[in-house]
Amino acid sequence: MTSHASGPPPFAITLDVGSSRANKTGSWRTQRPVYTDKLPPCNNACPAGENIQQWLYHAEEGGYQAAWRQIMADNPLPAIMGRICYRPCETSCNRAQLDAPVGINSVERFLGDQAIAEGWSPPEPAPPSGHRVLVVGAGPAGLSAAYQLALAGHRVTIRDSAPEPGGMMRYGIPAYRLPRDVLAAEIGRILALGVELDTGHTVTSITGEMTEGKFDAAFLAVGAQAGRRAYIPAGDSARILDAVRYLHEVAEGEPPQLGRRVVVYGGGNTAMDAARTARRLGATDAIVVYRRTRDRMPAHDSEVAEAAAEGITMRWLSTIAEAGDGTLTIEKMRLDEAGFPQPTGEFEELAADAVVLALGQEPELGLLDGVPGVEFDHGTVRVGPNMMTGHPGIFAGGDMTPSERTATVAIGHGKKAARNIDAWLRGQAWSPSAKHPLATFDELNPWYYADAPATVRPELEIARRVTTFDEVTGGLDESNALFEARRCLSCGNCFECDNCYGVCPDNAVIKLGPGQRYEIDLDYCKGCGICVAECPCGAIDLVPEEI
Ligand SMILES: Cc1cc2nc3c(=O)[nH]c(=O)nc-3n(C[C@H](O)[C@H](O)[C@H](O)COP(=O)(O)OP(=O)(O)OC[C@H]3O[C@@H](n4cnc5c(N)ncnc54)[C@H](O)[C@@H]3O)c2cc1C
Ligand code: SF4
Ligand code: SF4
Ligand code: SF4
Repeated sequence: MTSHASGPPPFAITLDVGSSRANKTGSWRTQRPVYTDKLPPCNNACPAGENIQQWLYHAEEGGYQAAWRQIMADNPLPAIMGRICYRPCETSCNRAQLDAPVGINSVERFLGDQAIAEGWSPPEPAPPSGHRVLVVGAGPAGLSAAYQLALAGHRVTIRDSAPEPGGMMRYGIPAYRLPRDVLAAEIGRILALGVELDTGHTVTSITGEMTEGKFDAAFLAVGAQAGRRAYIPAGDSARILDAVRYLHEVAEGEPPQLGRRVVVYGGGNTAMDAARTARRLGATDAIVVYRRTRDRMPAHDSEVAEAAAEGITMRWLSTIAEAGDGTLTIEKMRLDEAGFPQPTGEFEELAADAVVLALGQEPELGLLDGVPGVEFDHGTVRVGPNMMTGHPGIFAGGDMTPSERTATVAIGHGKKAARNIDAWLRGQAWSPSAKHPLATFDELNPWYYADAPATVRPELEIARRVTTFDEVTGGLDESNALFEARRCLSCGNCFECDNCYGVCPDNAVIKLGPGQRYEIDLDYCKGCGICVAECPCGAIDLVPEEI
């Protein structure tokens, strides 16, 4: 039996080698315990494919750099994601059923910020492969692909039409949610791997640029940059702008003058950002007009709540029927049985100096004109399971492909495309490893874990929020980040609590040493299942013996 040098945690009742080991009792067994690694629901839900349980495990031991490295294997932008990700991981977290989800996103931000402060670098790239890859678009999809391809030893060039890299992270998401120094630091780290960046370079023909530059493969990540228009009858003096263009101009330091009463038309996150930005730029009335009801609004709850706290008002079940000089005619809507908004014929006037349209975006795909094999789907580009378009060697991902449009999904696409491009360049096919079974809440022993209320992130006071672009949500300090990481239940993955080792009446659990976990001595295990019942996190299964 392995000695227990550091001593068991206080909750484990460790038995000494007892008389039960005198007789080999294993032959009585009809079932045996088996250590497993299950898929925690948080990992399963992260679109970037992060191994969250694993990096939280490092973080809760104070191994911040190891935790950061684990994140970086899947996502090269943790400080950014720790600010703007919509956190599907937390929505799926098992701890939500106990008290509140683990603040995964705030720990990720802490680790990302720590890496910037300490100057941690990614690993050394693999030796040069001799292949050249063109990435079009320096948004999250393009940056993520470039990072992974550079690490795999390929020579990567990114071309982007904008003056600065970042895509919608720079020209869409306002600085009060994503400070530009954080963006610059994480992009700079990717470029430091030797990735070439040509800004102010619009690619008009992908095949032409590939031939000219002798590129072996391309990853297209041009996003969805064009704001959707709606026909609104408007007088000559009505001021109507597009939200994406508006936010872009603000990001470039040239905000257009909108006046004091600004109406934003739309119900998504872009609408919230446009209204909150207008407020910061002097609008006293910033009103969001939306055709449906609050519960049907695509904007995330947190963004709606933050906008409301900043004095943005919402007009539900309303459309803009006409725009005139300083006033809008609003038509009230009602929802039919199917939940679709229908006109009521009831109108009212609303004072407005400008209307900002936030009705969604569409990709601009002229660079693929005439490229054989490429297929389109409602204005997006179709890709196969390997992220390749119908044209060999041209891959695509992010907002320009049919999928959910978030930065985290874009990062996941970039990684997946890079894995496939790497394999394709080597004449191979990449296949992801098989998924483990999901670790469900009912397999856990919640009584084992101490009460630990979720940590709340600090927020800037409202007065400063509406007059500056200072960051609204603050980060956790080290002690809070550590506390939050320790709230993780380690669903379905052994965290070496020693319970199984301590409770086995036959001392059949062998401890293999720190980080090595345990194994069962089948000569002594009777298959009583006590270890399975007592494991806090469902990391042991009981399987029938084959007779
Ligand atoms: C206002 C707003 C707020 C958002 N907030 C969030 C948020 O909080 N969280 C979140 O997860 N997601 C958010 N999103 C969505 C997120 O920003 C996008 O899903 C994500 O940026 C898509 O990444 P991408 O790499 O596919 O494209 P993009 O980020 O759009 O980048 C595309 C890049 O390609 C370049 N490009 C385009 N055409 C060419 C060409 N022909 N040649 C060269 N370069 C070209 C563009 O200049 C751009 O830099 C927001 C979007 C908007 C508009
Ligand atoms: S990127 Fe988003 S989903 Fe993934 S771990 Fe971070 S917060 Fe969660
Ligand atoms: S408790 Fe930990 S492992 Fe389980 S779902 Fe939440 S973050 Fe993931
Ligand atoms: S009881 Fe503890 S040590 Fe044993 S498998 Fe479960 S988590 Fe690991």
